[in-house]
Amino acid sequence: MYDIAIVGGGPAGSCLAMLLASVKGLKIAVIDKRELQKPYEGEGYIKSCGGLLAPDAQKTISRMGLDLPKEVLATPQIFCVRTIDLKRNLERFYQRFYINMDREKFDRFLASKIDAENAETFFGYTVSGIRYNEKEKVFCVSMRSRGNTKEPVIIRANMLVGADGAMSIVRRKLFPKLKFKEYVSLQEVFHQEHNNNLPYFSSLFHPKITDYYAWSLPKDDTFIFGAAIPAGKGAIKKYEELKEMVKDFGYDLKTPLRKEGTVILRTTGLTQIPKGYDDKAYLIGEAGGYISPSSAEGISYAFNSAIKLYESIRKAREEAPFDSKAYYQKIHSNFKRKVVPLRCKIVLKCLKKPFMYQPTLRYLVMKSKLKAIHMIEKEGPYGL
Ligand SMILES: Cc1cc2nc3c(=O)[nH]c(=O)nc-3n(C[C@H](O)[C@H](O)[C@H](O)COP(=O)(O)OP(=O)(O)OC[C@H]3O[C@@H](n4cnc5c(N)ncnc54)[C@H](O)[C@@H]3O)c2cc1C
Repeated sequence: MYDIAIVGGGPAGSCLAMLLASVKGLKIAVIDKRELQKPYEGEGYIKSCGGLLAPDAQKTISRMGLDLPKEVLATPQIFCVRTIDLKRNLERFYQRFYINMDREKFDRFLASKIDAENAETFFGYTVSGIRYNEKEKVFCVSMRSRGNTKEPVIIRANMLVGADGAMSIVRRKLFPKLKFKEYVSLQEVFHQEHNNNLPYFSSLFHPKITDYYAWSLPKDDTFIFGAAIPAGKGAIKKYEELKEMVKDFGYDLKTPLRKEGTVILRTTGLTQIPKGYDDKAYLIGEAGGYISPSSAEGISYAFNSAIKLYESIRKAREEAPFDSKAYYQKIHSNFKRKVVPLRCKIVLKCLKKPFMYQPTLRYLVMKSKLKAIHMIEKEGPYGL
């Protein structure tokens, strides 16, 4: 029997597990379908991601007392975003302070920081069932190993945390009414050598393709191109159309090494913290809609929502007897209050959205050259 079971060992789940493992006497389980305890060997599920660490995420890593080993970093480090309005054939460059990293290595680095003495990890296990036993007031979590090579496992826990990303099984099973706008994220990875003339993180817009955006960036010896397109029929067709459109901007997207598809959530930040199951079930990270609706930057939101839940649990331990009804009520009220700034941040990002995504407003902003970098004209691919 566990005090807390965390489904998902991505940035949100690993961060929460790392912090909770420091609390004496808590018995924690962390489950992830990826084998996060060992290096990725080219097989199995990987998290589709641009792997850019934004300043807010960098700050939170510092707050946790962590640093990044050089193995996690990717080349090149990029200092600007090339923004392209495909419809108006307009482009601008803006300064940005991201860290370019290898997302799989990053997640495995985070998972390695979970203190194995105080947290049991079920890596390589997919959660397939979740049930709340009303009588005993415990969650039963069923999981099976990759390729069903091991016996299925069922664990029991007093509290359950869904840190299992955009397609969260915890959200679907326990909070089916909680819905967010869904985008299909299609991403392909190419040999960098074909796109050497594009040494930027680029964001590309075309209202015919999506009301969100497409992106590209170099990563080590590869080049990533992807787009977030409203979920529904025709998404793949639109993605292919987009690939045709960008040819004129120097892209060579003929033979991908790998294709990835997933979901990105877009939220308003106004969603209530779902209540139920005796205040014992929570969603953090993208599972709970914590992601920027303007840039899809989600790592800092994953960290920060996890930190808020950790702080809520710690505070509740001082406020009420451990494992009592009052203890769980305190966790709920603390978390509800503590995530307000994060939810306000999402609302503020929503206010920023029209300047990035409303075609006329975006055109005026780009045309004004406000905050744009003036590239040095030279012969070759870098200047304008
Ligand atoms: C294409 C793309 C590019 C992106 N680029 C960036 C970027 O550059 N920078 C940035 O900050 N954000 C980016 N984001 C957003 C960011 O990836 C997410 O918001 C962030 O990863 C959320 O972290 P999380 O821990 O909440 O969820 P996730 O990172 O999705 O982690 C969820 C974990 O749960 C596990 N899991 C899921 N279901 C189950 C199950 N049933 N059983 C067991 N385990 C399960 C998964 O294996 C995974 O490890 C991008 C998103 C996409 C789709």
